[in-house]
Amino acid sequence: MVKIDKSKPVLVTGATGYVAGWIVKRLLEEGVTVHAAVRNPSDLSKVAHLTQLAHNKPGKLILFEADLLDTGSYQEAMAGCEVVIHTASPFTLNIKDPQKDLVTPAVEGTRNVLETANKTASVKRVVLTSSCAAIYGDTADKELIPGGVFTESHWNTTSTLKHQPYSFSKTMAEKLAWEIANKQDRWRLVVINPSFVLGPGIIPHSNSESFNLLRQVGNGRLKAGLPDIGVGVIDVRDLADAHVRAAYLPNANGRNIISGQNTSLLGITKTLQHRYSEYPIPSKTLPKWLIWLIGPLADKTTTRKFVARNVGYSWHASNEKSIRELGMSYRPMDETVNAMFQQLIDHGQIPQPKRR
Ligand code: NDP
Repeated sequence: MVKIDKSKPVLVTGATGYVAGWIVKRLLEEGVTVHAAVRNPSDLSKVAHLTQLAHNKPGKLILFEADLLDTGSYQEAMAGCEVVIHTASPFTLNIKDPQKDLVTPAVEGTRNVLETANKTASVKRVVLTSSCAAIYGDTADKELIPGGVFTESHWNTTSTLKHQPYSFSKTMAEKLAWEIANKQDRWRLVVINPSFVLGPGIIPHSNSESFNLLRQVGNGRLKAGLPDIGVGVIDVRDLADAHVRAAYLPNANGRNIISGQNTSLLGITKTLQHRYSEYPIPSKTLPKWLIWLIGPLADKTTTRKFVARNVGYSWHASNEKSIRELGMSYRPMDETVNAMFQQLIDHGQIPQPKRR
């Protein structure tokens, strides 16, 4: 059984990120000293909210400069930490070169952070933010598994550099993490595999891909309808809670699917229809043949192969391990989606609806 000392600092990589912001907040509330690793600590547009978070909290925040691609750059930030929470990894679909923009930072960044853990005697636990994208590639992959329910025992075998490169980057990074972790026994690797993360950000202007769906819903781009794609949804605040549990619960172990709901893109937007009826909320799905025809023209990530293997499939993953072993409970999805949509309205990221 691993006993983690809460008086020791915790390193959070990618502290400027959407998910990391809530993890930092939770740790500060618990009185923990957070070593927040960011690319540029003097860029106030990226870090002001983090220093702000530390005001009036029992914990303390210290910023450190580090980059996934700069070997050894996490050393100073990790010194004295028993827990490392490694969230940093690019999450964007807007890329030119999948190897350079996604796979190299995800994989080499994981190598960089975990090899630094190997050299840092104080480290007892590394919590890695992987993804359900390391569990499945396309929703059609459910046909490869008995019962069609994704669990921690499944691995994404269908993503490549050309097809679903973000999912490929997360799969390669998590595989490398297990390879490095299994070669030593001083620190334990606990992996968090979140589904699609939604919910309000600590700051509302994030580059995370999580924000794009609701921005597009709000600006009317998806008004005609949505592709019928099954997804899982997790509230960003519940996900932060899962990371803190993974860091401190003595028996936390292995991979952990963190997902509140099995739903679909339409299921997400349906939660907005009642409260935001004056906004252009999509209320139906588009036929698969139409998406197959026009999808690739509208958006380069919507390839014909993507449409064939994802549209028209439901999605089901089991969160039973997280409830049983991490003691997770999940808030209802309408609370998550409505709070995020309202935040985007309040900060002018969704245009005011036209008067009818
Ligand atoms: P964000 O884009 O908000 O956060 C990504 C973080 O990674 C940022 O802090 C970013 O720093 C940092 N980063 C990227 N490249 C580098 C680099 N070369 N060196 C140092 N830091 C770097 O995304 P999320 O918060 O949504 O994602 C956080 C984690 O959660 C990722 O690992 C992602 O794969 C995972 N995840 C996210 C899901 C989601 O739906 N959002 C679902 C499942 C997993 P900077 O601010 O400087 O760019």
